Amino acid sequence: MPAQRRHLGKVSIICTNCGQEAASDVFQYMCTCGGLYEVVHDFGKLDSEALKRTFQNRLGERMTPYASGVWRYKELICPELPEEFITTKYEGNTGLYAADALQQYTGIRKLWLKAQSENPSGSFKDNGMTVAVSHGRSLGFTRFACSSTGNTSSSLAMFAAIAGSQSYVFVPANNISPNKVLQTVAYGARVISFDGTYDDGIRFLQAHSGELGLYVCNSINPYRIEGQKSIIYEIAQYLDWKLPDWVIVPGGALSNATALGKGLSDLYALGFIDKLPRVGIVQAEGASPFHRMVASGGAELIPDELPYTLASALNIGNPPSWKKALHTLQTTNGVTVSVTDEEILDAKALIDQSGVGCEPASAATVAGLHKLAAQKVIDKDETAVCILTGNLLKDTEALRYYHLEAMSGGAYRNAPHSAELTLEGVRKWASG
Ligand SMILES: *Cc1c(COP(=O)(O)O)cnc(C)c1O
Repeated sequence: MPAQRRHLGKVSIICTNCGQEAASDVFQYMCTCGGLYEVVHDFGKLDSEALKRTFQNRLGERMTPYASGVWRYKELICPELPEEFITTKYEGNTGLYAADALQQYTGIRKLWLKAQSENPSGSFKDNGMTVAVSHGRSLGFTRFACSSTGNTSSSLAMFAAIAGSQSYVFVPANNISPNKVLQTVAYGARVISFDGTYDDGIRFLQAHSGELGLYVCNSINPYRIEGQKSIIYEIAQYLDWKLPDWVIVPGGALSNATALGKGLSDLYALGFIDKLPRVGIVQAEGASPFHRMVASGGAELIPDELPYTLASALNIGNPPSWKKALHTLQTTNGVTVSVTDEEILDAKALIDQSGVGCEPASAATVAGLHKLAAQKVIDKDETAVCILTGNLLKDTEALRYYHLEAMSGGAYRNAPHSAELTLEGVRKWASG
């Protein structure tokens, strides 16, 4: 056996609903029973200590796939993928910041912010997309598709361009974030604008992607989830494999919550961490079917027919990965909470003013943490990390509204001041 194959684990593709195994050399993301597939690793033969050293050594890589904050952990994500297909922009490698000002705001002992907003296309979607596109290429695909209102499509369009492939993006004509769609267009995606919702786009792809020869890159693709596991691996590695008591994520389609639970289970199974942190999933009140189900003790998700939140990345009424996210809650003794758009925007202003910055959906984490601490679900002596999912510049409409419109009523509003450019005028303003 060649040396580099010695540490490879075995991987199978299993339906999370009926347990049936799928072939790994054809592209499938949904079982005939309607269940979603998941990648199941057999880590049995891996040497944890050797792997830890490998991950540590790779922090010194430059210009190789292992310089990526995702592919650094290839053995735990996509062990069998030949290196030649890896399509990377050195995603991951994002900052983990101690957030003193927000620590005070939330009242807990220690808080970190994990800035996935620093990814090359500006959101955590890059962590999963690099793996999906690389996997699609390994199967011979050159045409990649998704239904999206912005960040998924920007990420896909970027990686497809890097790979020299074509991306096809299905974008609802209404309720979309202009910056994100423009970013997608700029990377060269073919954008199909249609009269309908994100869910209609997904349904179309499910029905026709096969005959169109499209590789589907939405988060129902299990390789996206594998890549997104790297977020918690990286947090753990940066903290010397000692995680805080809580990890807080926003919940939209619930792929991030799914990947977080799966990544934590990996770290625990491999003995990298000796205790599982608890997970908090925060939804926006106007699009919170998952939180409502959990809070009411229900067993089935009842979709929101007309979801609305200003945090556009969370504006999803029927999250496809809710069963997987429920599993995350069960394995980590997790909780859910919902927050209003006002709470989101105030938390966002504080995150922005701390110098880290994020888009509204990401700020749901700090708003949720604030609420959970006030409710004493999280104790003031505990520690937490909030995952900031998208960049401050992704949604300039939200910034314009909060800071420039008096009607926003934002507690941390910072509108420009108009004044005569006189010494007296400026002196007064500068001392304010
Ligand atoms: C996609 C996205 C979310 C929601 O993540 P899910 O995995 O769909 O729950 C949150 N914030 C941002 C910025 C996103 O792009």
